[in-house]
Amino acid sequence: MPVRNFSLHHFSSSAVPAWKKVVVQMISGPKQVVFCDFDGPIVDVSERYYQTYLKGLLAVEQAFGEQRDRLPLPGRATLPGRATLPGRATLLALRPLSKTQFWQMKRSRVPDIEIAMRSGLPTELFQPFMQQVERLVNHPSLLRWDRLQPNARAALKRFRAGNFRLVVVTLRHPRQVQDFLSAQGLEHLVDDVYGVLDIHAALANRVELKCKLLAKAIAQQQAQGFITQNSWMVGDTEADVIAGQTLGLSTAALSCGVRSTAYLKQLEPSVVHNCLMTAAQNVIDALTLKAA
Ligand SMILES: [Mg+2]
Repeated sequence: MPVRNFSLHHFSSSAVPAWKKVVVQMISGPKQVVFCDFDGPIVDVSERYYQTYLKGLLAVEQAFGEQRDRLPLPGRATLPGRATLPGRATLLALRPLSKTQFWQMKRSRVPDIEIAMRSGLPTELFQPFMQQVERLVNHPSLLRWDRLQPNARAALKRFRAGNFRLVVVTLRHPRQVQDFLSAQGLEHLVDDVYGVLDIHAALANRVELKCKLLAKAIAQQQAQGFITQNSWMVGDTEADVIAGQTLGLSTAALSCGVRSTAYLKQLEPSVVHNCLMTAAQNVIDALTLKAA
């Protein structure tokens, strides 16, 4: 799986020429970096994940129905679920969860197979269901469900007003990050983006991949003369907390994303906050205190 830095150094280059940035840095001194995850702290992905789940169930049911219709009558009895019952509505007897139920289970790390089974999906169809989820989750028609977290804009402005350098480290594809920030008019508030080219990486949320990416981000920010000592990693999953801890950063875990407060506390981050705004205030206060 490619781990590739896709730093978008020139997000705001049209607004501020590079020489001006250098002059500003010479006057104000090197900037302190704060590392921040994307999905969870900045983006609410709950509706996209829920819509993906619903469409995944529907796709499996349709494929199942088509497969059933191609089989001779005696063969239909060998299919899982209620295949021998007539009518599409009762083919699999699916019972989709409400969004609240679904998201609560995701936040508590209920395994996907259990979520599928509680939705009425036979275990034999779990793999086809997950294949549909992976196929669908990055489709543009579903990406449009992504929403900006309610106070994320204010939080990013707070970092900017405090003269901090906000560096996004995410397992999302950098183009998706750029498109979202651009659509929201937030490019000028993010200084750098480190993402991965594999569009399946965000769903898989592999800890070791996040560690490699954060290590690369720290090394490159240091090489550019920015301050990463005493820095923080802000994120909403175990991948963010463990990556930050592994690399010696303070960690702020946010409960507004895809993990519950109870789960995040087990990871023993430096702090748990409910949103990026409270984390921003806390991180800025902590860093200002250390610099004093
Ligand atoms: Mg996240």
